[in-house]
Amino acid sequence: MTKIAREVCSPEVSRRGLFKVAATAVGAVAVVGLAANDALADNKMAKNAAQYQASPRNGQSCGKCSNYVAASSTCKVVEGSVSANGWCSLYAAKG
Ligand code: SF4
Repeated sequence: MTKIAREVCSPEVSRRGLFKVAATAVGAVAVVGLAANDALADNKMAKNAAQYQASPRNGQSCGKCSNYVAASSTCKVVEGSVSANGWCSLYAAKG
């Protein structure tokens, strides 16, 4: 039986023991959450997969897209830098 299991199963569960278990659980959840967040941050589509091109298409361009991040010339869903005049198949008009 692990130390934590002993502390939880013991009839003499102390406040300190419960606090340790709770702190361990919170820490584990935080680590898993951070790992998932990193995976999402890196989970952008490749330019060729998104059919990215450096020029507008039918009046649509990155500069008019809700996924465009002007401050960094990047896109929320396509990897790498993109041009305000670019376009891809994931285009989503700004609301
Ligand atoms: S989703 Fe496509 S069109 Fe929109 S900003 Fe990103 S690369 Fe440009």
